[in-house]
Amino acid sequence: MSKKIIILGAGVSGLSLAWKLSTKGFEVHVLEAKSQVGGLAGTLREGDYCMDIGPHSFFSEDQEILETVLTLFDNKLVPRNRNVKFYYQDKFLDYPLTAYSVLFQMGLWTGIRAGISFVGSKFTYKGNVRVEADDETVEEWAIKSFGRHLYDTFFKPYTEQFWKVPCSELSSRSIPTHTRMSFINTCRILLKRRLTDKKSSLIEREMLPTYYPDTGFAEIPEKIAEAAITSGVQIHVNSRAVSIDNHSNGQLRVRYDTGETWDEITGDTVVGTIPINHLINMLEPSAPEDVLIDAGKLEQRSIVALGMVTERQDVLGCSYIYVLDRPYNRISEMNAFSNATSPEGENILVVEIPCLKDSVVWTASKEELFEICIGALSKDGFLSPGDVKSLLLVKVENAYPIYKKDYVPHLKRALDYIEEFDDIFVLGRAGEHMYMDVDVCIRRAFDLADKMITSYE
Ligand SMILES: Cc1cc2nc3c(=O)[nH]c(=O)nc-3n(C[C@H](O)[C@H](O)[C@H](O)COP(=O)(O)OP(=O)(O)OC[C@H]3O[C@@H](n4cnc5c(N)ncnc54)[C@H](O)[C@@H]3O)c2cc1C
Repeated sequence: MSKKIIILGAGVSGLSLAWKLSTKGFEVHVLEAKSQVGGLAGTLREGDYCMDIGPHSFFSEDQEILETVLTLFDNKLVPRNRNVKFYYQDKFLDYPLTAYSVLFQMGLWTGIRAGISFVGSKFTYKGNVRVEADDETVEEWAIKSFGRHLYDTFFKPYTEQFWKVPCSELSSRSIPTHTRMSFINTCRILLKRRLTDKKSSLIEREMLPTYYPDTGFAEIPEKIAEAAITSGVQIHVNSRAVSIDNHSNGQLRVRYDTGETWDEITGDTVVGTIPINHLINMLEPSAPEDVLIDAGKLEQRSIVALGMVTERQDVLGCSYIYVLDRPYNRISEMNAFSNATSPEGENILVVEIPCLKDSVVWTASKEELFEICIGALSKDGFLSPGDVKSLLLVKVENAYPIYKKDYVPHLKRALDYIEEFDDIFVLGRAGEHMYMDVDVCIRRAFDLADKMITSYE
């Protein structure tokens, strides 16, 4: 008998799962809270302007996933250049930080201080002496790997500006390359580059060819949605799931809010790609108190992206610039990804501002955010107020799962609880509370589809 699957969220994860299941004959419905698909990989389309939530690039070392996406575009996507810089004390550094940046780009005096401090930290810093490296905080990891000086002047201010959480409270897993990134490792890479003349990076994935569709990254989730709809998937936008319970017909029932009314849908299985803590809170009857407490400890950080339409071209000279001590943490320009994201002769400079939901930044209008940001952009020589023709704004809740130092046991207990249900699954960046790029979202969705197909055979 064909099973009916309800998927919560039409981001890349939910759409990829829906697509794969529908090709195997499942009846699939996707409920999406917003008016468009794509989630974090979506693009704001306003008039002739296309602005991502921070421009994305597609890359993958997973050949099957790479080919799947390229095939959706009839193999017409071509690799594009992507280069990233860090702007620190009026100097441009490599990103992520390398020994080269410390020794040669930060300036001689900083290089010497950082080197002495690194050696000193090796002998003196004991941190809280944790048994498992996995349990390290960002503070412990950064001092051990780069020394106290760089921790105080670079890692701590940047990390805390981004996460709004003290480094002593954050797990080192918050730094994606933390297991490989250290002063010594970056020296090795530097030497290897010199000896072999080969490009190498701490983030091997950064060296992969990167792809970007012409009119915004959202073309990727939109193509997946098209393929899913062709196979029979029904996508219900403007449909925010609010509760999940057992219906009298023996199926699961999801109630959802369309903005005008409340509606409901029943199915054999529910898959949540929405934040796991929200999913657990939606369950009726309610999850046990201790599970609700664990789920409540799994927090997310929101993001606001402000786009400034300008006629200035090649403002940054690279794809992204990470910055310290500014109201935003990253600047990019859409034309560095595709000129077709704005009318000819125009460009969109994007600043990303990580924030707490309901903070001053979160509630600010685009004009207020412009006032907050333009002084620093002007001072750094990127853009003056007179260069800006109009503004675009996107706000997204739950953009970054926060890895606090004690998040692993909370997450494990939340996941264990969901596993007790054989008809409820979680998937994706927020569903699994795990950083992942788009290719990994598609891989995990396809793997879950295979698991579900096998279990229903
Ligand atoms: C600033 C930024 C830059 C990034 N850059 C890159 C990059 O260059 N390359 C790359 O590969 N990856 C990048 N990523 C990561 C990538 O965007 C995500 O991993 C991916 O889009 C996550 O997809 P998802 O479907 O798992 O989750 P989401 O995209 O979060 O989808 C979840 C969906 O659920 C919906 N939803 C939430 N609550 C409900 C509800 N109650 N009912 C119904 N629907 C609901 C949301 O609206 C959303 O559409 C970046 C992420 C960010 C934040």
